[in-house]
Amino acid sequence: MKKVFSIAVIFMFIFLFAGCGSTAGSSEKEAGASPATEQPPDPSAISDSISPEDLKASINLDMKPNEAGKVMVLMYHNIGNEESEWVRTPSNFTNDLNTLYTKGYRPISLTDYVTGNISTEQGLTPIVLTFDDGNLNNFKYLEDGSIDSVSAIGLLLDFHQKHPDFPLEATFFIDGDMPFKQSGLASQKLRFIVDHGMDIGNHTRDHVSLKTASSDTIREQIGSQAQFLKILLGRDDYDVNTLALPYGERPSDPSLAAYLISGSHAGTVYNNIAVMNVGWNPGRSPYDTRFDHSSIPRIRASEMKVDNVGLYDYIDYFDKNPDQRFISDGISQIITVPEENMEWLSSIDGKEFYTYRPR
Ligand SMILES: [Zn+2]
Repeated sequence: MKKVFSIAVIFMFIFLFAGCGSTAGSSEKEAGASPATEQPPDPSAISDSISPEDLKASINLDMKPNEAGKVMVLMYHNIGNEESEWVRTPSNFTNDLNTLYTKGYRPISLTDYVTGNISTEQGLTPIVLTFDDGNLNNFKYLEDGSIDSVSAIGLLLDFHQKHPDFPLEATFFIDGDMPFKQSGLASQKLRFIVDHGMDIGNHTRDHVSLKTASSDTIREQIGSQAQFLKILLGRDDYDVNTLALPYGERPSDPSLAAYLISGSHAGTVYNNIAVMNVGWNPGRSPYDTRFDHSSIPRIRASEMKVDNVGLYDYIDYFDKNPDQRFISDGISQIITVPEENMEWLSSIDGKEFYTYRPR
C-alpha cells in the first residue's frame, strides 16, 4: 500500500508541475495558485484544530448569544398575483425576505436545524423556509429555458444574489407524481434544487390526511413517495427524509405515529429525521430536551387569516422579547447560553456548552 501511495504522490508532483507550467505565462495566476500564501483558510478546518477554550474566547457575549432560544420554521404554499390565505404575491414574499434579513434572521437547512448543526453568523437568528405542495408557481421554467423570476425559486435566487449572506436554504415538500407540474421537467427541477444546496421533502403520495389511515396506507403514502422522489432525483447520496403532514394531521391512533418516522413499503425502508406540522408557534432549540423531531411546529408565512400567530406576529413578538429568540454564537461545536437557560438543555455528542451571566 505504502509503495502505491508514494508512486501516487510522485505522479501528483509531476502533474502539479505540468499544471504550473501551463500557466507560466501569467505570474498573477501562479501567485494565486500558491496555497501557502494566497488561499483563504477553510473555517471548518480551523475550528477543528482550535481548542474549545479558544473557540469560546472568540464568542462576543455582548451579542447575547442564546442557543436555547426559539427558531421559526416558516410555511409557504403558493406564490401568485393575488394575495390570499395560501398565496403570497411576489412582492409580499420579497418583502418577507427583506424584513427577515434586516431583522437579523438567516435561513439554515431543515437538516441542520434538526441535527443542531447551526453555524449561523454570530449574533443572528436561524430560520427554516419551507414550501408545501410542489406547485408550478414554486418552480417554473419559461419557454426559453430560464427560471420564471416570479416563481419561489426565482425570487429566492434573486434575493440570495443581492444578499449573499442570506443563505440559499429552503425545503420543498412534494406530493403527487409530477413535482412542480411541468411535464418532462420534474427530474431537472429536483436536481437543480439539490445541486443548489436546497432540499426536497416528502408530502405523501396522494396528499391524504393520515388521521384515520391504516398502517399499510401510512407506509405506502410515505414510503412510495420517498422512493419515487429519490429515483426522480437520481442521486444515491441524497435521501428524501423529511415529511410534512398533509393538513398537519397525524394518526389519531398513537401506536401508528411511529410510522411517520420509519417503516417500509414494498421492500424499501424509509427513515424521516423531521416531521412537520401545520401550526402555529416557533420551534424549540434543537438542544432543548423538549425538542421533538417527530412534531415540528411551523408558522404560517402570510398575513391573511393567520389568527395572530402568523409570521409578522412572531417577528413583533421576538422584537419585544429578544430573550426568547435563538441567537447564534457562530460556532456549531459550541452551544452558548445565558446560565439561566440551562435548565432544559441536553448534551450533544461532539458539542460543548458555554454558559455565561448576561451583563
Ligand atoms: Zn399540502
